[in-house]
Amino acid sequence: MRLTGPFVKHGLLTPFFPAIGTRMLADYHTHTPLCRHATGAPVEYALAAMAMGLAEVGISDHSPMPEPFDDWRMDLGELDEYFALVAEARAAVAPFPVRLGLEVDYFPGQEKWIESLADRAPWDYLIGSVHYLAPGWDVDNPKWIGKFSEQPVAEIWQLYFAEYEKCIRTGLFDFVAHPDLVKKFGHRPAGDLRTYYEPVIAALADTGTAMEVSTAGLRKPVGEIYPSREMLEMAFAAGVEIVISSDAHAPEEVGADFPVAEQLIRDIGYTSTLQFARRQKTRVPLT
Ligand code: ZN
Ligand code: FE
Ligand code: FE
Ligand code: ZN
Repeated sequence: MRLTGPFVKHGLLTPFFPAIGTRMLADYHTHTPLCRHATGAPVEYALAAMAMGLAEVGISDHSPMPEPFDDWRMDLGELDEYFALVAEARAAVAPFPVRLGLEVDYFPGQEKWIESLADRAPWDYLIGSVHYLAPGWDVDNPKWIGKFSEQPVAEIWQLYFAEYEKCIRTGLFDFVAHPDLVKKFGHRPAGDLRTYYEPVIAALADTGTAMEVSTAGLRKPVGEIYPSREMLEMAFAAGVEIVISSDAHAPEEVGADFPVAEQLIRDIGYTSTLQFARRQKTRVPLT
């Protein structure tokens, strides 16, 4: 369904699922056409968030690299266009909050670059993501799915979670995305998976970094939320704070399956999520 301005402006749209505390939730993980694999302008994402009764929306497209790098992110020269798109959305839906974020790819050696990105704009938050396990190997790219049968899944999981822990330990990010993305196509090693999660949970707790609970996994072959229930229980026990995100690549994905995620976090014991403005976090109770 497409939501148009006048309906929202005149209050003709009521929230789709107001029963559980959706009104206090924000969706901070969304994309723009600048990354070449998403559709819809930020203003459309913002209107969708308003219509769903979310409290805030944030735009967080894939970060530019200093040099051309792959075919699924904005170029460095497109950052100004990105800022303009977010400004346009803000102007269209004010005073509804549209936050400025970025989904930053982490891999070792990128720290200086990420610090320079952090200085380029008044970001509301930076999301840390691990997609690359090695140069040219983005683990969530269907192009490389064959790698899961070329080497033990346990090794791939080790690689992924080691990178993810390093990403968190940089302390450069407000929260980290899709915590167990490596399961995207359904590959899981045998045995106790907590051994993979433990160092990550410790890094989150040590650095005070928050974790994303992402409904995107429900739309992927694995068919479940990132992270697994077990990992989220460990995070809760360690006092790690969370946000719920959709990782929307189209306006109609904003807030997707938030009631499912909200039920999960409540079951586990969470009573609040975080909101971010100018890289300051606020704890917001679930209503
Ligand atoms: Zn993307
Ligand atoms: Fe991502
Ligand atoms: Fe994303
Ligand atoms: Zn993502």
